[in-house]
Amino acid sequence: MIRIMSKKVIIVGSGAGGCAVARELALKGFNITVLEAGSKFSSLNRAFSYAYPFSRLGLLGGEKTISKVFPHMKTTRASDKLVVVTGQTMGGCTTISCGNIVRADRGLKEIGLDLKSEFDELEKIIGIAPIPFDKWRSLTLKMFKTATRLGLDPTPTQKAVNVHKCTGCGLCELGCAVNAKWDARKFLDKQIRKRVSVICKTAVKKLIIEGGVVKGVEARKERESLRLYSDIVVLAAGGLGTAQILKASGVDASDTLWVDIVSTLGGICKGAKQLHEPPMVWYTKHEDYILSPYIDILSVWFYKPWRKVSVNDRVGIMLKLADSASGMVTKEGDIIKQVTNYELERIDEGLELARQVMENSGVNGPFVRGLLNGGHLGGTVPLRKKDIDSMKPSYLPDNLWVADLSLAPRSQGMPTMLLASALALRVARKIIEAKNN
Ligand SMILES: Cc1cc2nc3c(=O)[nH]c(=O)nc-3n(C[C@H](O)[C@H](O)[C@H](O)COP(=O)(O)OP(=O)(O)OC[C@H]3O[C@@H](n4cnc5c(N)ncnc54)[C@H](O)[C@@H]3O)c2cc1C
Ligand code: SF4
Repeated sequence: MIRIMSKKVIIVGSGAGGCAVARELALKGFNITVLEAGSKFSSLNRAFSYAYPFSRLGLLGGEKTISKVFPHMKTTRASDKLVVVTGQTMGGCTTISCGNIVRADRGLKEIGLDLKSEFDELEKIIGIAPIPFDKWRSLTLKMFKTATRLGLDPTPTQKAVNVHKCTGCGLCELGCAVNAKWDARKFLDKQIRKRVSVICKTAVKKLIIEGGVVKGVEARKERESLRLYSDIVVLAAGGLGTAQILKASGVDASDTLWVDIVSTLGGICKGAKQLHEPPMVWYTKHEDYILSPYIDILSVWFYKPWRKVSVNDRVGIMLKLADSASGMVTKEGDIIKQVTNYELERIDEGLELARQVMENSGVNGPFVRGLLNGGHLGGTVPLRKKDIDSMKPSYLPDNLWVADLSLAPRSQGMPTMLLASALALRVARKIIEAKNN
């Protein structure tokens, strides 16, 4: 065992939460070490066209193959129906995001948490704007108009994408090769990086807790075991990683994981080339889901019912559902989560609307559903009303904080990067406050 002494703040995970908290604490003079399980990020999107012919022949295997060619994207089976997708790399899930920035705040009012000032501040730092209409595919515009006619009130999505650099390759979830898309690494600009050391390929296994006080973490860097000490530990390893570390350390994590279930309806329109634009350029908002134009890459590559149609002719509309907070993460990092009958009914209802939008825009059947998956993992350390003053559930040991989507008590059915960063920013300010008292 190697013993490294006295790092001031250890932040575990470098995603939407981890980078936001690192930035804020570094600006206030804290000495920060970020431990990241994944490696430095590099995009894959040039490989898509090479892999596509193999997928048509069914030679790519199941969805687990994605991690073999693109180790930054991990898939885990939560049940026979549901696949969970996470980003394991510097920048976390934000590196494989679609670049959507939305103020998701479901369930926050009920616990007395208003993140408006954090949303305002972060949107300014990130820089957001919709993709201009002239960069949309003509069919996407047609579907937008149809959705308007059907009274669904579609809105252009705010994006963290530099439209001047964006080539419209459509493969944001494989990373942006031309650096047009924002991800959380950008929180750590040159000035901040002088005060933050990021150590990749270092997976935290458990907390070091002595006399009920957190003193540091035990981690594994490749083959080496490390014990790293600090004054404060911030867990920002996402809904999955944070819960796993807590449970492995004998600290509670709540079996209330939600994932925002995604189901994409695929239709056919010859030569539509929907993948030749950024994904999800508009969305319609419903009580507990959104609909948005989208080609589901996992289904294109790995899902048998999608195989027969060329990607140039495939048209999709995604439904993203706010699901029940009913999942569980084990200390080994397995996820157990069923899709309920109620959720399946909501999906049926939403995809029926999606079908109407597509059909009335000239898209043909057969309409096939994609792989059910979820990539917004939250709710495993949910904040309650009584926690809002401290931004820390009271059962967490001293010197330990959580600063990621785990804190959000309810699923959103909406993009969640901004929410994860806003929660983390509020937590960072509480850490600063606590130090000054
Ligand atoms: C494919 C995909 C597309 C998405 N698109 C969008 C979008 O367009 N807009 C949007 O708002 N949201 C999007 N999301 C969701 C959004 O990216 C996440 O909700 C958000 O990043 C969550 O932030 P987080 O800090 O909780 O976790 P993450 O961003 O996942 O960060 C967690 C980090 O912790 C690291 N980690 C995990 N375990 C350990 C460990 N034991 N030790 C060290 N490090 C560890 C991980 O490698 C990761 O880097 C998308 C998600 C996916 C999967
Ligand atoms: S669509 Fe634009 S932002 Fe997305 S990966 Fe391609 S170039 Fe980057």
